[in-house]
Amino acid sequence: MADLPPLREVIARHGLSASKALGQNFLFDEQLLDRIAAVPDSLDGRRVLEIGPGPGGLTRALLRAGAQVTAIEMDRRCLPALEELGGAYPGRLQVIEGDALKLDHGEIMGGEPFAVLSNLPYNVGTALFTRWMGGEEWPPQWTSLTLMFQQEVAQRIVAKPGSSAYGRLAVLAQWRAEAKLAMKVHRSAFTPPPKVMSAIVHVEPAAMPEGVSARILERVTEAAFGQRRKMLRQSLKGMPGAVDALDSLGIDPQRRAETLQVADFVALARELT
Ligand code: SAM
Repeated sequence: MADLPPLREVIARHGLSASKALGQNFLFDEQLLDRIAAVPDSLDGRRVLEIGPGPGGLTRALLRAGAQVTAIEMDRRCLPALEELGGAYPGRLQVIEGDALKLDHGEIMGGEPFAVLSNLPYNVGTALFTRWMGGEEWPPQWTSLTLMFQQEVAQRIVAKPGSSAYGRLAVLAQWRAEAKLAMKVHRSAFTPPPKVMSAIVHVEPAAMPEGVSARILERVTEAAFGQRRKMLRQSLKGMPGAVDALDSLGIDPQRRAETLQVADFVALARELT
């Protein structure tokens, strides 16, 4: 195992004061970072995409776990520290400077399957998650997503029908994937501590139901939850054929979106596809 200086020393030496604008809340606890890296199946010898390595805390854990890491970081101040880390694990860490929202991850990973692990600023995390979970191509090139979210967002991703957290994110995450809350992370684990608690969500692709367009499923859930307090017959009024489809599926149009199972949304989207 590489002999590395403590992360706090790396941060001080490279002047990496946490930038609020870049959503920087760093993790230093190596045991916690190792536990995060252990959430997916063994990473030994596997290709991993990490978004936002910062000074490299999680990156170290991924390398310790035997992964071949490609990391995308927007803050160029972090690059010398990451280069040092790469030097301690020759040929195992590739760092790309850039905005992960603007890059083609599949291309960066050379068309090979990869696991994603990341501790991201919350707004970027949700945008990337929506992108990874979307699209007609399934199974995706990624084999799992292990992502830190604000706890409230994590709960929305794994929520079940009937709960107030259940909505678009839950349907998007669950209709062709398994999503679970892998661990909660106390705000005090971060430097500086954010205002809210965090949690790690782990997602693995499952079989895609046949005859359903992802785009149509997204449109149905968007319309249904866009007015979540209204009855479906009202919220789906703007989608041609949707109210008739409720009828033919035997779904009472007086129900509200949050009472429908994920499978009901799939059936509805299939009718409209
Ligand atoms: N992985 C480190 C850790 O766990 O200590 C840092 C986590 S910090 C919450 C988020 C990191 O994501 C920062 O280093 C920030 O510069 C980077 N970042 C923010 N927006 C980004 C984007 N759009 N693309 C790539 N990196 C981004």
